[in-house]
Amino acid sequence: MEYKSFLVKYAEIGLKGKNRSYFEDCLVNQIRQNLSMLGEYKVTKEQGRIYVDCPEGYDYDDTVDCLSKIFGIVGFMPVMEIPTTDWDAICKLAVDFVEQSFAEKNFTFKMFCKRGDKNYPMTSPEIACELGGVLLEHFPGLSVDVHNPDKSITVEVRSHAYIYSDGYKGIGGMPVGCNGKAMLLLSGGIDSPVAGYMIAKRGVAIDATYFDAPPYTNERARQKVIDLAKQISKYVGPIKLNIINFTEIQMYIYETCPHEELTILMRRYMMRIAEEIANRSNCLALITGESLGQVASQTMQSLNCTNAVCKMPVYRPLIGFDKSEIVEISQRIGTFETSILPYEDCCTIYVAKHPVTKPILHIIEHSETLLAEKIDDMVARAIDERTIMRIKPE
Ligand code: ATP
Ligand code: MG
Repeated sequence: MEYKSFLVKYAEIGLKGKNRSYFEDCLVNQIRQNLSMLGEYKVTKEQGRIYVDCPEGYDYDDTVDCLSKIFGIVGFMPVMEIPTTDWDAICKLAVDFVEQSFAEKNFTFKMFCKRGDKNYPMTSPEIACELGGVLLEHFPGLSVDVHNPDKSITVEVRSHAYIYSDGYKGIGGMPVGCNGKAMLLLSGGIDSPVAGYMIAKRGVAIDATYFDAPPYTNERARQKVIDLAKQISKYVGPIKLNIINFTEIQMYIYETCPHEELTILMRRYMMRIAEEIANRSNCLALITGESLGQVASQTMQSLNCTNAVCKMPVYRPLIGFDKSEIVEISQRIGTFETSILPYEDCCTIYVAKHPVTKPILHIIEHSETLLAEKIDDMVARAIDERTIMRIKPE
């Protein structure tokens, strides 16, 4: 017998009072959407739980992988089921379950029972106790520990009988989309994909903007960003990626303004452009991968100057993280290997030898007045002529 379904557990979204069913529906939709890439699964909500019924011949590992990337799920367990509540059949189900689920049959366990059918001739404690006895008899390596068991095994007797154990840990968070949408400034580096992942984990859908600088950056740099977007879309769902040709603006700043202010000025135009696109696509915030003190453009003074152009909130989930902590997350979510590929980023090409580390806002604003003649047209053109791609997980 194989597992025909999974039981999905969620914690945090269950706590939201009146909004509970809204969050549950978001999670059900998210599970449906992500699993639809693998086949025709049936996802249903019932009495504070979510059930996933798997199609004939489904791939178990792919299904586990998919469920383990859905925000809002704290755990999920493969379930064995029989279409009867006949006692002998339930005993056989429990034996089959242990046989198939655990390679080593030498652990301690505690048996739980939930009884939906109150007319069943045995109480829940009786069922748990009797079934525990059946397992002990059948598997001599097993023993009961009611205080600190290695495994919990739960049998449910409703119109059918079900059995499951602890199963897999989910990634937690909240279902994507239940908290609106934000615009991620996505570069080819390590930090920004992690930043997008972290905000999406709190239920936020993601659009992205990448600033490209052809011919100074090449096709491979752009492909790297597309690949990173694909990788995070495994968690956050489809991403609308805006690719901005930033070359003209960068060159103009380079030719017109003091070189040590270049990075800050570029960052301010990036934020302005990202915010404009964010407004047009109903995003409520910007997201960046900035971390305090990591580089010259991320000192408190630099961040103040960058932030000053934004009316929207800017989420910087990595602000207090060390690089090693960011690397750890990027390895865990699978973006690290792509992020470290050595292609030029638009920012690395124009970096000044001695960038300002403590820029003063009114001086930066003064430098920007030197750009007055052409910059508004350039920004408008960069936005109008942007490339839009719809990125989906593969
Ligand atoms: P990352 O590793 O994400 O590239 P970084 O350490 O290289 O970050 P910066 O280059 O200073 O840092 O960029 C800070 C943030 O600005 C990035 O995390 C990203 O959100 C945004 N950003 C930088 N360059 C680009 C770009 N070319 N396109 C889109 N966003 C960018
Ligand atoms: Mg970067």
